[in-house]
Amino acid sequence: MRRDSPNSDGRTVVQVLLPYALSGAYSYVQPQGMDLEPGHYVRVPLGPRQAVGVVWDVANDEGGAEIEPSKLRPVAEVYPAPPMPALHRRFIDWVANYSVSLPGSVLRMCLRVPEALGHPKSATGYRRGGPEPKRVTPQRARVLDCADDHLAWSVSDLAEMAGVTTSVVRGLVQAGTLLPEQLPPFRPFAKPDLAAGAVKLSGEQQKAAQMLRAMVAARTFSVALLDGVTGSGKTEVYLEAVAATVAAGKQVLILLPEIALTAQFLARIEVRFGTAPAEWHSAVRPRERERVWRAVASGEASIVVGARSALFLPFANPGLIVVDEEHETAYKQEDGVIYHARDMAIVYGSLGGFPVVLASATPSLESYQNAITGRYEHVILRARHGAAVLPEIVPIDMRAEHPPAGTWLSEPLHAAITETLEARGQVLLYLNRRGYAPLTLCRTCGHRIECPDCEAWLVEHRFRRQLVCHHCGHADAIPTECPACGNENTLVACGPGVERLADEVKEKYPQARMVILSSDLVRGQGLRDAVHEIADGKHDIVIGTQLVAKGHHFPGLTLVGVVDGDIGLNNGDLRAAERTFQVLCQVSGRAGRGSVAGRALIQTYRPDHELISALVAGDREQFYTQELAARENAKLPPCGRLASLIVSGAKQNVLNDFIRRLARAVPATELATVLGPAPAPLALIRGRHRVRFLVKSAKDFNMQNFCRAWLAGVDVPASVRVSVDIDPYSFM
Ligand code: ADP
Ligand code: ZN
Repeated sequence: MRRDSPNSDGRTVVQVLLPYALSGAYSYVQPQGMDLEPGHYVRVPLGPRQAVGVVWDVANDEGGAEIEPSKLRPVAEVYPAPPMPALHRRFIDWVANYSVSLPGSVLRMCLRVPEALGHPKSATGYRRGGPEPKRVTPQRARVLDCADDHLAWSVSDLAEMAGVTTSVVRGLVQAGTLLPEQLPPFRPFAKPDLAAGAVKLSGEQQKAAQMLRAMVAARTFSVALLDGVTGSGKTEVYLEAVAATVAAGKQVLILLPEIALTAQFLARIEVRFGTAPAEWHSAVRPRERERVWRAVASGEASIVVGARSALFLPFANPGLIVVDEEHETAYKQEDGVIYHARDMAIVYGSLGGFPVVLASATPSLESYQNAITGRYEHVILRARHGAAVLPEIVPIDMRAEHPPAGTWLSEPLHAAITETLEARGQVLLYLNRRGYAPLTLCRTCGHRIECPDCEAWLVEHRFRRQLVCHHCGHADAIPTECPACGNENTLVACGPGVERLADEVKEKYPQARMVILSSDLVRGQGLRDAVHEIADGKHDIVIGTQLVAKGHHFPGLTLVGVVDGDIGLNNGDLRAAERTFQVLCQVSGRAGRGSVAGRALIQTYRPDHELISALVAGDREQFYTQELAARENAKLPPCGRLASLIVSGAKQNVLNDFIRRLARAVPATELATVLGPAPAPLALIRGRHRVRFLVKSAKDFNMQNFCRAWLAGVDVPASVRVSVDIDPYSFM
């Protein structure tokens, strides 16, 4: 749709970045009367369509634009939203460059709420004010009760608060009891009350908080690793830095690895600051997203709590980022633009000149190394808060235990559970395996049931009566006969999943109230409710996957039983030991956070493994030191760099041909080694064949330039996809 065609002299050409995988910004002409500046959100024609983009650069055409300005199409509209800050634009360019992706692909992550760019649409609210209705039903009474505060509420808010349908509310509007009133379009975010729920810090906490406050006061870039045992009060401490930042008139972003953690956390922030913070993750509803986006862009929202995607909100005035549980691999985005939110948070801080706090009881080896070498401020909390003490950790040597076939709890663990239940304590049994059994096998012919589209076994989910692929979601009904030999009733479940463990628990402790926390059984609100119930002591035994390992505070929990302490060790990737250590430490750390001391029993076939002995001895440094030495020896991260090139395609022959060309195109250098091509450990996912190259180099090598040069040397066929993963965490 072309509008007026402005005259040809002295026209301004603008570069507009569009949220698509295009090689650069596109040129448009600025129509007369429009005054564009970098950062303006604009609508522009793109082929036959219209697209929303951001002005990246403004130049007068004297600079010799490549295309005749008269051939350029004009910008159609400029949106009233505050322009994207220069910092944010630099951040987008930086992330694109670092992750070897296109700026448009990064911009796409920033333009997820296009409604927020226009003028807010106003809404009507209703307030109690008119005469009482003639007929007061119980439902109407509830609505009137909620409207009794004489504030104006939207129809849907009132209905939700009162637990009635909107027609009940509308009935009261018609009766003239509720009076209409123009609402401000979005409920504003209240200023946090910095003194509201402040706690009295211990001496050690006070010292730590002081260090973080000093970083905030310095108003320059710095990174602190807030390194404290589970339950030491890391959250209370960094909330002091949050308060100092808000007091200085700046915004704070607190990143959490898991949406399931947010409800408990938001409630805690509300207690501390007297008002709920802005919340940002995939489960937030569209209208609320719009509210948050606007409040972040205007600077009104001072505290934002979010998942990794919150990094791409256009903060007007950022002053601090906290990355809680910084070691969590959930911070790595594995598809689209592949990035690590912790690392990008640090980049954001360095571009914006503000501090970043990383909090963990089990830091990543990367952050640990930076802390002990002095690149990061190392802020340490050694003791649990108050009377709580760290749990005692005891290994159970499974080579000496032989639970009867089809059961998984050893005698010592069984005894400890019984004892704990008798003392009215809560028990957590940790098994990081969803479903009933990880493998289904035919007793007659030995056939193992695999996914038709992936190179993976199907996992039995007995509650759903299905065999499910954990990689692509493929699901079949559980067959009654072996698909290979056709014999009936010969299929057996091998190994435990949480559902099977639950059967054993039900049989052994029929009186105990039990709940399973596994991502395929509880999600969203259900999960948040379950977490609350556990914290309130409504369950005696919790069976959980890694969902329960993270950050939860269950005061009544006194026994943790790790059913299979060796699971994570067998997957062979470079971080296997590190991750197993972290998860065992975190999951053990759920025990004894209240007034009663806790313990953790770990069933393992490798009780002499260095990570188990470090755990038992409570000597984290011993493990980290050994692990760092091993990485140094092998020149693996954090003592070297890695990048993965994952190439996938549905057509095997096209893929093979491309792989051969790619292998020949490796740029010559002595500073990096290219390993592969090798079939990725999961060589087939969703019917696409996958092959991986691994680039290994010294720490100071420019991995991005190497990858770009490599890919520039080959044409990628349409059916083939290449993705670059800088600093890979997943090797599947
Ligand atoms: P972490 O983040 O290190 O696991 P938290 O900050 O969650 O530890 O603290 C653990 C528990 O102890 C929480 O319930 C917290 O409110 C409480 N707590 C920590 N420090 C204090 C303090 N100084 N005063 C009162 N309660 C505290
Ligand atoms: Zn599959």
